[in-house]
Amino acid sequence: MWNLFRSCLLLIPGLLLLSCSDTEPDQGPSYDTLISNARMIDGLGGPAVDADVYIRNGEVALIAATGQSTLDAAQTIDARGRVLAPGFIDVHSHGDPLQTPEFENFLAQGVTTITLGQDGDSPENENLGQWVSQVRDNGIGVNIAPFVGHGTLRNLAGIGQKPVPSTEELQRMLELLNNALDYSFGLSTGLEYNPGLHAKEAELVELARVVGSRDRIVMSHMRNEDDDQLEASLDELMSQGRVARVHVSHLKSVYGKGADRAEEILAVLANAREAGIEITADVYPYNASYAGIALLFPVWSKTPQEFEIAKQSRRAELEEYLINRINRRNGPAATLLGTDPYTGKTLADLELELGMPFEKILIDVIGPQGAGGAYFIMDDALQSRLLEDEMITASSDGSPTGFHPRGHGTFAKIIEEYVVNRGAVSLEEMVRKMTSFSASILGLQDRGSIELGKVADLVLFDPETIRANATYPNPLQLSSGFDIVFIAGEVAFENGASTQESLGDVLSPNQ
Ligand SMILES: [Zn+2]
Repeated sequence: MWNLFRSCLLLIPGLLLLSCSDTEPDQGPSYDTLISNARMIDGLGGPAVDADVYIRNGEVALIAATGQSTLDAAQTIDARGRVLAPGFIDVHSHGDPLQTPEFENFLAQGVTTITLGQDGDSPENENLGQWVSQVRDNGIGVNIAPFVGHGTLRNLAGIGQKPVPSTEELQRMLELLNNALDYSFGLSTGLEYNPGLHAKEAELVELARVVGSRDRIVMSHMRNEDDDQLEASLDELMSQGRVARVHVSHLKSVYGKGADRAEEILAVLANAREAGIEITADVYPYNASYAGIALLFPVWSKTPQEFEIAKQSRRAELEEYLINRINRRNGPAATLLGTDPYTGKTLADLELELGMPFEKILIDVIGPQGAGGAYFIMDDALQSRLLEDEMITASSDGSPTGFHPRGHGTFAKIIEEYVVNRGAVSLEEMVRKMTSFSASILGLQDRGSIELGKVADLVLFDPETIRANATYPNPLQLSSGFDIVFIAGEVAFENGASTQESLGDVLSPNQ
């Protein structure tokens, strides 16, 4: 026992030298890679330390104080004092790995793990394992933690847009969920979208019970993000939080204002935690949301069929609804369309171009299925306070192709803007939130920190040089400054580009 312990732990003054070596000395280099002279931030929240980090078989195999070790490695990368941190984990992201498997937009932000199947929408396959194999065979540039979508389960169980499923349909959905949880980290809901918006609280609690029994998490795009509906939406999620861990996706207050309002929202979350509900949230660092334009339309006119009926029988009511909704959401200039042929134009631009008021454009020209858009409906002071909170992590809510800068810029913007420019949060704390904290939310045990035996998903950077280059008019610009990104100890991104396209893996939840 002592021998084993001694071979794994060696004390050096000032820093623990940690290794678990079982390689004979004369069999060539003991380690695959040495990252020397790093300013190591381990992701657990402690202060940065100067360290040499050794990698073997894709894992962190030894951490030594800088210059204190002279062990062999097949290759050495001199960090030259730059920060070495765990790769960032994006807890709410989008994309289709079969269409755009590279995910270079995420690697360029230092992200090594993303989540897919969000907002209630996952691959419509009763056997999620089949999809996982397909994605693995195809190859992916980042790690993916899959979620199963509530809307998708409703469709697979034949419930669709019915408000209340029959007992048999509900049973079928619970079974499908339980099977999908073999491959997914939890259930996602999209209660502002079809068909999820039809579900009642009782259905959501039944689903959450299955999620809780498997020690997974419910991640929710809540029913309504308007400021005056936020508490009600959180209440609904808390009812699921009594039987499972729950998480608010892209927490925001639509047209709420000020840091004081953020404190009120944070107090609701803190009180819930006091009462024993495990609730967390993520926030993205932009003041515009992005979604299909159906989001602006009333519940009774979202689908093509409903829309046709609404146009014919409730036209005046529909126009009035849209006028009120758009004006409450900062007017037509605050809706920036992101799909052709309207890309880059606001509703106000279209009013001028077409000589029509925006409500008529929405009904007669675009329609609820006709476009996606960015909506400038958030307050910087409020959202920033949320993002800084210790129990809230970051997400991009973005994808390789989405017309919103968050997909290419989120994690860079957080370092550039919140850490370096504003000094609102220390680098160590922000890294903790975006790595080990995110890993704990997902239940990922082997990633999210630089510790012995953890998978070597790492990012090397100088915080002063980080730039989020994506803008609203030009949202597909890669971020810069994350010099090298490692996935399982291999270089996945360097010199501003992906190096290999299939270092990522579809991760498995703990059984
Ligand atoms: Zn969402």
